[in-house]
Amino acid sequence: MRILVIGSGLAGINAALLASEFADVTLLSKGPLEQTNTQRAQGGIAAAIAALDDPRLHAEDTIRAGAGLCDPDAVHALTSDGPEAIERLLRLGVEFDRDPSGMLALATEGAHSTPRVLHAGGDQTGVHIQSALGDRLAESGVDVRTDVTVGELIVEAGRCVGATTEEDGRETLLADAVLLATGGAGALYRTTTNPESATGDGIALAFRAGAVVRDPEFVQFHPTALVGGDGAFLISEALRGEGAVLLDEAGNRFMTRVHPDAELAPRSVVARAITETMRRDCADHVMLDISHMDADYLRGRFPGVYRGALDRGKDITAGPIPVAPAAHYHMGGVYTDVDGRTTVSGLYAAGECASTGAHGANRVASNSLLEAAVFSSRAIEAIRREAGPAQAPDGEARSLRWRLEGSAPSMETLQGTMNELVGITRSGAGLRSALDRFGEWSAEPTTSSQPSLPLATLTARLITEAALQRAESRGSHLRLDFAEEDPAWRRHSLWQLARE
Ligand SMILES: Cc1cc2nc3c(=O)[nH]c(=O)nc-3n(C[C@H](O)[C@H](O)[C@H](O)COP(=O)(O)OP(=O)(O)OC[C@H]3O[C@@H](n4cnc5c(N)ncnc54)[C@H](O)[C@@H]3O)c2cc1C
Repeated sequence: MRILVIGSGLAGINAALLASEFADVTLLSKGPLEQTNTQRAQGGIAAAIAALDDPRLHAEDTIRAGAGLCDPDAVHALTSDGPEAIERLLRLGVEFDRDPSGMLALATEGAHSTPRVLHAGGDQTGVHIQSALGDRLAESGVDVRTDVTVGELIVEAGRCVGATTEEDGRETLLADAVLLATGGAGALYRTTTNPESATGDGIALAFRAGAVVRDPEFVQFHPTALVGGDGAFLISEALRGEGAVLLDEAGNRFMTRVHPDAELAPRSVVARAITETMRRDCADHVMLDISHMDADYLRGRFPGVYRGALDRGKDITAGPIPVAPAAHYHMGGVYTDVDGRTTVSGLYAAGECASTGAHGANRVASNSLLEAAVFSSRAIEAIRREAGPAQAPDGEARSLRWRLEGSAPSMETLQGTMNELVGITRSGAGLRSALDRFGEWSAEPTTSSQPSLPLATLTARLITEAALQRAESRGSHLRLDFAEEDPAWRRHSLWQLARE
């Protein structure tokens, strides 16, 4: 059996290692092996491993945060497989932090009602996971190819049988099963915590192959990313947990006027308030200040954030630093069932590119690494069993008859449009202007040499169409013209390419 895995983050490498036990495996990544969201993860990975914890409690916390759109089966699969996923990561060599007695150290994070977040190297969890899995991959028999962009999936008689790559002429790779593990879509935005490779390619690839895409409108924006330098560097919520305050241009705290929990209000509330303050002050940032705390304590408590900010010319111990919301995580994605099966035979998806239904409209911190680990394992088990495709999800998919050719003139133009018109707060007028631009772009042949640009443009267009259709505010999706949650919209949005 031949299996093609597209992506080198936690979902991709974990899947490739498991698949190599019974199949010939090729793993592709668009950039260097570690240019992934996985590598950037800071806080940790959640799982109910404590004596007083229970996967059912973890499931309840997850469903409560999901703004009415979690799929209970997916959440239960996530949380009940969680402890085994952690054991597997330990076996693969991930060294999670331990307390002085040698027990795995567990932290508490927003929405988790009990300590259940494992971390490594303090706030360096992703680096540790990526490097341990990378080491195991190097020892395995997997054929690994980096700096290769998949531009199209091959579908014959309704079954996905491989993929073609874009660089150095088109190479065709045939396989009995293809797993998409292409990660998030944050880099569709100018301001993002994601690496440049995170342009939502898997969603466009699957959509073009005829698979159902679910809830693409749900993009989570992290409230506090450092502004300036190379990309937007994440300043963890934990700083606000320790007492960091947000200040406007005049140096005044503004969150105290917005929410009783002030800086510790839910992510979407803080992000929205920052955006409104920036607009009022005509600024591209607000300030975050934790410098009133002891400098040695801060250096010890937040080594990664301290160093990362310092590398970008800012010292969290010395004074306020400029921050702004940044595109961070994509809840929407390729629809899969609990076994990672898409609606196209032979095509599977796992990790951030998939919509398993585990996150609903709002992701709980530290559940995404777990999702990547759990569902990539389940997908490989389904491939081993040679299970057929997933049943179509409940509800009617909106069939789109689109020209798939054409793309934005450049990635920068696309990112500018997404930031300006499809960002953290949205309006019907803005979304319609964005769709006008997509219409103009699709009329022109693609001229850019950026291999992912047609895929990125298509995923961005899906996000925009879905954001316009959802005439309410829910979870991470905030409409200025429909500010409240609408019970009639307590349903998923489903998208599929119209068959000719
Ligand atoms: C700054 C930051 C901090 C985070 N902190 C946490 C945290 O503490 N806890 C948590 O649970 N989650 C966290 N997350 C989210 C979490 O890291 C991701 O959701 C998770 O790592 C996704 O893993 P993945 O394997 O699905 O994708 P990724 O790790 O992003 O890997 C995607 C892979 O797909 C490849 N790829 C993409 N397109 C193509 C293409 N066309 N052809 C070939 N290859 C392609 C890329 O090259 C890459 O190898 C954080 C994210 C960020 C950005």
